[in-house]
Amino acid sequence: MKRRKRLSIEDYKSGVLSGDRVALSRAITLVESTLESDNEVAAKLIDEIYDFTGNSFRVGITGVPGVGKSTFIESFGNQILEMGKKLAVLTIDPSSQKTGGSILGDKTRMERLSQSKNAFIRPSPSGDALGGVAHKTRETMLLCEAAGFDVIFIETVGVGQSETAVKNMVDFFLLLMLAGAGDELQGIKKGIMEMADAIAINKADGENIKNAKNAQREYQNALHLFPANENGWIPKVNICSALQNEGLKDIWKTMQEFLLQQKQSGSFNENRKEQSIHWMHQTIHHFLKQNFYKNPEINKKMSKFENEVRSGNKHSMQAARFLLNEYFK
Ligand code: GDP
Repeated sequence: MKRRKRLSIEDYKSGVLSGDRVALSRAITLVESTLESDNEVAAKLIDEIYDFTGNSFRVGITGVPGVGKSTFIESFGNQILEMGKKLAVLTIDPSSQKTGGSILGDKTRMERLSQSKNAFIRPSPSGDALGGVAHKTRETMLLCEAAGFDVIFIETVGVGQSETAVKNMVDFFLLLMLAGAGDELQGIKKGIMEMADAIAINKADGENIKNAKNAQREYQNALHLFPANENGWIPKVNICSALQNEGLKDIWKTMQEFLLQQKQSGSFNENRKEQSIHWMHQTIHHFLKQNFYKNPEINKKMSKFENEVRSGNKHSMQAARFLLNEYFK
């Protein structure tokens, strides 16, 4: 495919800031690029737009496949659009990097949303390590903020790999669950429950309403057993039916209560500052690692040292120390 001519940084910047979707898409493609020359331009672009970021409500949404994430995002997202807000939906799907397939699937997800001019949907890039993808998602989020989106959803598949990264880039983390047959706490890692600012028990419709209400009580009790959040927020459990548009207003209300409480207590800004520090370290880790493995001298020696470790001539830490000394000398 013929590569389109690259825009100038000024063009990217003015396009993104004016909310031009084509410019925004192209800026995201630039951020996702693995070409070094693109990375430099992308970094400059992020510098340029940084002052215009930070104004959205950043929401992480997770849950196992089948829980109803796309249906929920479609219904909840449309409710947000009806309030006159602009919504961006970014997805991180670690499965797509490993297998080329995707848990999130190729089915047309969020059909109505994808047709609205006030919504912007972008799946995660593939073919890179999760650390890299998370970086790119965060930068994409910043671009969307600069483009004027008021609410940003970052969706993950809830299988435990990307949730920590997402938790570290959002203000509010929503876990979607189902009322199971008795075994309510199965299926999702306890660590993920601890991250949640709210749980929404989906598919609370028809005969399932009673189960959902029972599960709501159970989860609310289970959450009380976790150590209290440092930010003073007690996670809430709501029930909803994404399919029938029920209970979604309560979830928005929970989010508004959270925002009010967090802003009043100062926790909102504290959290964002801590997240910035986290991403500073992540960026350092990411680039050091990339640079190390790309280093030609290290590359030449790598298989020799792998063999030494394999044959028992060197133990793993010796070999690692030797290679690191080579790199830093
Ligand atoms: P995802 O894999 O988490 O994105 O889940 P989907 O949104 O694709 O939903 C999986 C299935 O559950 C689909 O057949 C949906 O129609 C169904 N579903 C989603 N939300 C609800 C709901 O609130 N009630 C009911 N009864 N079914 C739902």
